[in-house]
Amino acid sequence: MRIHKYFRLEEFVPQEIFKKYGDNSIRFISNEVIELAVFLRERFGQIIINNWLWEDINFNYSGFRASDCKIGAKESDHKRGVAIDIKSDRLADIKHCVTTEIFQYALLENGCNYIENIEKTPSWIHFSCALSNSNKIIFY
Ligand SMILES: [Zn+2]
Repeated sequence: MRIHKYFRLEEFVPQEIFKKYGDNSIRFISNEVIELAVFLRERFGQIIINNWLWEDINFNYSGFRASDCKIGAKESDHKRGVAIDIKSDRLADIKHCVTTEIFQYALLENGCNYIENIEKTPSWIHFSCALSNSNKIIFY
């Protein structure tokens, strides 16, 4: 199911969730995380969230994760459908951008409030649209 000109729903949910719920899987993700993905796609070109739909060696848990998913933190924002892990050929470029104030402002405008410490995520970047009380991006 296409949810935007750039993205299919399958990119935001694991294969087993999509098999079980089909297009109704959309209930597990948030508008904010779609808008953030669109912003990143328009800025950096192709970005990968989940690619199980097309690839053998694939990403399956980079968007929504079910509550019983063993991947990642127990109370991860992924389990509320507000976080995405982005992979890209331009990852170094994106990592540089997220350290700049002007790009952080653009991220806030596009719904992102949290980024996991980019030194702890060597081959991806974790962005979260969970709400915060800060007017700055929170790195944790
Ligand atoms: Zn993540």
